[in-house]
Amino acid sequence: MKIHEYQAKEIFAEYQIPVQTFFVCKTVDEVVNAFDKFGGPVVVKAQVLVGGRGKAGGIKFCDSKEKAIEAATSIIGMDIKGLTVETVIVCSAVDIADEIYVGLITDRNTKSVLLMVSAEGGVEIEEVAKTNPEKIIKIPIDPQIGLLPHQARNVFFKVMKNGNHVRQAADILVKLYKVFIEKDCSLAEINPLVIDKNDKVIALDAKVNFDDNAMFRHPDYEALADYTDDEKLEVEANERGLSYVKLDGEIGCMVNGAGLAMATMDMINLYGGTPANFLDIGGSSNPQKVIHAMEYLMNDKNVKAVLINIFGGITRCDDVARGLLEAFKQMDVKMPVVIRLSGTNAKEGKELLKNSKELITADTMAEAAKKVIEAAKNV
Ligand code: GDP
Ligand code: MN
Repeated sequence: MKIHEYQAKEIFAEYQIPVQTFFVCKTVDEVVNAFDKFGGPVVVKAQVLVGGRGKAGGIKFCDSKEKAIEAATSIIGMDIKGLTVETVIVCSAVDIADEIYVGLITDRNTKSVLLMVSAEGGVEIEEVAKTNPEKIIKIPIDPQIGLLPHQARNVFFKVMKNGNHVRQAADILVKLYKVFIEKDCSLAEINPLVIDKNDKVIALDAKVNFDDNAMFRHPDYEALADYTDDEKLEVEANERGLSYVKLDGEIGCMVNGAGLAMATMDMINLYGGTPANFLDIGGSSNPQKVIHAMEYLMNDKNVKAVLINIFGGITRCDDVARGLLEAFKQMDVKMPVVIRLSGTNAKEGKELLKNSKELITADTMAEAAKKVIEAAKNV
């Protein structure tokens, strides 16, 4: 789960990580009020859950009230990468001497929290990773020991010349690590961490993602959520026992098991189709689950045909087939549906589906993928 910069900065402030003073505003009037409170240069920043706001025109430096009004008028309501800006923050502007990148992320390769630091702060880190990967220092943090202050100091001595700056940055990093662990983050990033003209080190930006698997430990996070429509669907599906991720292809997929669901999407891609979603319905033959799953696929305007791929392990294919028939009896499905059943009692399952008019059966995954892509072409 992603949260906005202002929410992340509120957490930072709680942990004594220095941030600029700011006001959260939703209207031009509120921005004007905030400008008056500072009485000096401010920065108006769009609050949207995507990166690169600066480049998109969502961050404006304003040294007069007129400029603040102009910035607020253009930013509030602006579209950034498909998201509408509803909220901005007005910050006291900082005089920047240097910008550093600092990030903590869960890393599957090292099975630890990975610390990343780069002198190339202020630009998108993905860009640095592509063009100058050697400019990113990466240090896995031992989960048993945690981040030690000397580690933090060592890493900043590589990107800063002044010991006073290093001490401040190291202190911030130790606190950022504390945020990461205590708040169950999957990402905590300060880009840029700046040194201002008064030698003060400040987190100018803040990006925090929470680990969705830890949501149950933090009931208070729900109130921080600002989901897009697609994400709302995914959260709701999750509550219904389905693991659903919407994509933008044309072939709806319904699969039991996450690995098989990934393989199914690969297979569709291999034969020239595009998957409309990832959907793992788990191991059950419950018709209600199938109905719910089909609702997501049918409500997706891009979906032209559906591929149901079931492997019967403990769940028997004949049970699944009965569940599917029951589900399809209760629904009005107008698009082609291809089904592949494999595993325990597959033969019995297929026998049951043989007489269904709506369902096209297939024996192998390749055959199923080819059939569903062909069916989608003819819709
Ligand atoms: P992002 O583009 O979404 O990552 O937003 P950031 O908060 O990182 O801001 C982008 C850039 O705007 C920063 O790297 C700075 O160069 C600039 N910027 C943001 N706030 C200030 C400020 O208070 N003073 C100055 N001088 N520049 C700022
Ligand atoms: Mn940034």
